[in-house]
Order: sequence, then structure tokens, then C-alpha cells
Amino acid sequence: MQGIVFKSTGSRYKVKGEDGLFYICGIRGKMRLSGIKSTNPVAVGDSVDFEVESGNLGVITHLNDRKNYLVRKSTNLSKQVHVLAANIDQVLMICTIVQPKIALGLVDRVLATAEAYEIPAVLVFNKFDIYSEEDKDKLAGILSIYDPIGYPCIITSATEKRGIEKLKTVLQNKTTLLTGHSGVGKSSLINTIDPNLQLKTGEISHFNEKGQHTTTFAEMHELSFGAQIIDTPGVRSFGVFDFDKSVLAHYFPEMLSKSTECRFHNCTHVNEPGCAIKQTIEEGGISAQRYQSYLNLFFDEDLEKSY
Ligand code: GDP
Ligand code: ZN
Repeated sequence: MQGIVFKSTGSRYKVKGEDGLFYICGIRGKMRLSGIKSTNPVAVGDSVDFEVESGNLGVITHLNDRKNYLVRKSTNLSKQVHVLAANIDQVLMICTIVQPKIALGLVDRVLATAEAYEIPAVLVFNKFDIYSEEDKDKLAGILSIYDPIGYPCIITSATEKRGIEKLKTVLQNKTTLLTGHSGVGKSSLINTIDPNLQLKTGEISHFNEKGQHTTTFAEMHELSFGAQIIDTPGVRSFGVFDFDKSVLAHYFPEMLSKSTECRFHNCTHVNEPGCAIKQTIEEGGISAQRYQSYLNLFFDEDLEKSY
């Protein structure tokens, strides 16, 4: 039978079969993936073939081709990666202007990562109910940057149920990877969207008392109106990617479209003469803050450590 992996805890996988039932599966033999060395052969979102052994127990026998997948480097020193999730339709980055204060550098890092994997990204600004006039001005400034460069922005309040219908429309019929700092309201928003799920608030990113993550595996949840969400163990494990510096500008859509006008075809937009991007920033056509995020990533020697 074919199925989708909803949860992985290392050696056991929760798989939803075509029959609509959930099975707990192991893996038969050695399943190797072509191309990548990963610590986990099967990830959340994967499409697999499995055999039912007895009751709700089964064995995964085959991994079907992935449309895409997100990885993070494994914590050990090997070159291996950990596949966070596969077959993702979009990334939903949940932020708030206050409580906690928004970190635009992080937003840009997540967006650039999504671009690198060619996964569309949507921004959500939650907790609108507690924004001061100043916060609202700040939000307006942020929207004026991200909306024109192609990132849909949704304003929500889980408390006042604002923006919930719009959010549902965006999630409908898709598999969405959720990300965002702990405390921005991920669990609250999901519970507001689908009260049947009853995630404990604070459940999506787990931190122990020392503030470290206690969960390292992503999990998929099915919402009642036909949407699948994958919650990740927290932003610490997302937004890290190995990139070739010469193509970093490709992951900033507003820079990509201008870069063909630079004097040098291999311009890195840092200090070359005749750089169309620096020129456009001066004219106000590209946000200086986004360019700063670009530079931060460009000069970030060890993305993983700094994250
Ligand atoms: P998570 O860590 O991202 O899952 O965040 P939670 O859903 O646990 O929410 C963190 C805190 O923010 C909780 O105290 C929530 O009650 C609160 N919260 C969540 N959404 C909103 C909102 O829209 N407005 C306000 N004022 N508080 C919210
Ligand atoms: Zn340039």
C-alpha cells in the first residue's frame, strides 16, 4: 500500500495509508537514497510503499521520488544531513512585530532558504491585537517591502480571530511547513484554525528549562478542512543551507531581476563598480534592510554556528 509519513521518531514511522488509517512502520533492510547522505532515510512528508504485517503495524519497503526536501546539517561532524521534511508545497513563516520582537534578518534567511529549495513562502504577522500605533507603522513598512517582491503577507490575531479565513484559504489543499520563533503564536493560530487539533500552546517548538530544543523531529498534522501542516522543531534547525556565494543573489528575488544589469556578469554586489543593485538601493528601488540581510549571509562564514 502507498502512504504518507506523518511522523518519524528515528526508527519508527507513523504512516497514513491510502485506506485513511494510520500505521506504525519500521523499515525493511537498507533503503538508500540516491544523491544525498542523510541520517534519516525517510522523513515527514515522504510518500512510501509499505506492507501491512498485522493490525496497524507495517514495514516500509520503498521510498517514492521526492518533489523537494529541506535539510539541516546533522549535529555530528560527518557531512551527513538530516532531512527535515519532504514534498512541501509552501513555507509559512509566522512572525509578530512584538512579543517577541521581529528579527528581519531571520525572516530573510528563512525566505532565502525557501528560494534555494524553490518552495514558495508566505509571511504571517500575528498578534495584531496588541500592536501599538508605532508597531502598526513598522508593520506597514515591512509589508511595503515584502509584498511587492512576491511574498504574500497575512495579518492575523489568534486572540481576536482575525485573518483566520484568509489563512485557511492559503493552507487549503496544500502541505505547508510552519516555522517561526517560539512564542509567536504558532500553536494558538493552528488551534484557532482547527479547534479539533487541540495542540497545547507552546507545543510546536519545544524547549526545556534551559531553553534548548527537546524535540528534533518534525510532525505532520491534518486539518479538518483539507490541509496538512508540518511543524518543525523550531527555527534553529531551519534556515541553514549550504550555498555557493556566487548565486546567493538568486535567492533574493528583487536582486535576481536586477543583477543582469550589473557591469560584471559575475558581480557579487558587494563592492564592484557598475553594480545595478547598489544603484537601485540608492534610488530606493531595493530595500537597504534586505540588502543588509544579503550581506550578512554573504559574509557569514559558518551559517550553522551563527544560527
Ligand atoms: P508558539 O510557541 O509559536 O506555538 O506560540 P503559542 O501559540 O504557544 O503562543 C505564545 C503566547 O502568545 C501564548 O501566551 C499565547 O496566548 C499568545 N498569543 C498567541 N497568539 C496571540 C495573538 O494573536 N494575540 C495575543 N495578544 N497573544 C497571542
Ligand atoms: Zn551587482
